[in-house]
Amino acid sequence: MTADCIFCKIVKGEIPSTRILETDEVYSFLDINPINPGHLLVIPKKHFNTIFEIPDSILAELMPCVKRLSKAVYRAVSAEGINIVQNNYRAAGQLIDHAHFHVIPRFSNDGFLTSWPGKTASPEDLNRVKEKILNLLEK
Ligand code: AMP
Ligand code: ZN
Repeated sequence: MTADCIFCKIVKGEIPSTRILETDEVYSFLDINPINPGHLLVIPKKHFNTIFEIPDSILAELMPCVKRLSKAVYRAVSAEGINIVQNNYRAAGQLIDHAHFHVIPRFSNDGFLTSWPGKTASPEDLNRVKEKILNLLEK
């Protein structure tokens, strides 16, 4: 628990939320400003700033919840697609520093991005970054 974290307060019931699912380690509720109706958030009940800090054992409970909830949202709002989005740090759009997964129902005419513009990269570029990543990959 972090004293001034909105999502910790939601888990504790100190701030109201539209609860959808709760397990020992996981809490899910509707996003208060949905991108489309049915947009919900899935969070670990314990406070972790980003995905980097969430223990694998908790992710192992959380990810099946994301999958179950995605299926239910997809059918509940007759969505045509689902985005699962997880932002880490400001540069990636994280506004709430309690790690969370967005489940966002999508429609072909909803006006939002369906893909990000890719940059061209040479085989050398790809290999250079591959080596850096492999050197830092934790066992
Ligand atoms: P992010 O930009 O990934 O940190 O997303 C934070 C999300 O939390 C946004 O989509 C907000 O609409 C949502 N949010 C903020 N406060 C609340 C709240 N009290 N209840 C539900 N969702 C919230
Ligand atoms: Zn928190």
